[in-house]
Amino acid sequence: MRKVFCFFILVGVFNTFLHSQTDSVKIGYTGNMGVSITTGGDQVVIDALHKGNEWGYLIPDEKIRDQILSKESPYGKIKISLATHWHTDHFNEEFADEFLQRNLSAKKIGTQQIYEKISDVSDNFEKIKKRIFITDNSPKGKKIFDVDNIKVKAYNIPHYGARHSDVQNSGYLVEINGLRIFHAGDGDPGLEYYSQYNLDKEKIDIAIFPTWFISRGGPVINYLKPSKVIITHINPRGADELKTVTAIKRPDLILFTELEQEITYNK
Ligand SMILES: [Zn+2]
Repeated sequence: MRKVFCFFILVGVFNTFLHSQTDSVKIGYTGNMGVSITTGGDQVVIDALHKGNEWGYLIPDEKIRDQILSKESPYGKIKISLATHWHTDHFNEEFADEFLQRNLSAKKIGTQQIYEKISDVSDNFEKIKKRIFITDNSPKGKKIFDVDNIKVKAYNIPHYGARHSDVQNSGYLVEINGLRIFHAGDGDPGLEYYSQYNLDKEKIDIAIFPTWFISRGGPVINYLKPSKVIITHINPRGADELKTVTAIKRPDLILFTELEQEITYNK
């Protein structure tokens, strides 16, 4: 009887362990649309390292930059670094090159424009080029990457604003440890760009959008039905006002406004 009892306790402990391993994810913030996704001993970063632009969005500070480049805690488990597009408040080619030169097992996923920008500045592109995977940014372009047990689905989603029509932008759905996290980059909030990929079928846990989705992204958010929505790309000068407006419209929205802000999501 005692043995049976112990067995059930063990099963219980093991289940708890398994549950916490598979169903919990931490999303950390590195500035503008930069996030780290950490779960089950794996880590993916998106738009994490950049130098910002003149509009004043948050930039990763020196500490975060050095931790990512040398893969130090809390960024010690990065397997893939994704970049949505080349704009300087999302991506920097020197940082991307240095990250891949220093971390030989790390992979990069980005647009053709990102690949070319890294190639232009790299002193040893041969050493890293096989670890850079290129997204399909043709109309309705979609590509699936399987990297080290992490599945990344990349979708061509036009950059918002006609003046940026030449800038390739990829939205990413990261499937990691049983969780599905979507990041739109600077995507257009037009519903057709998301429904063309049947993204409503993807059972998205967390969706990360830029600030203009608060006013224009309602149809996309309703269509994707994510369990959690995180808003990024917030100009710090307008953050307080946005918090008030947002609280009225949808109280469960999460706004990322401070470096190293972090949420834990339990599925
Ligand atoms: Zn942009």
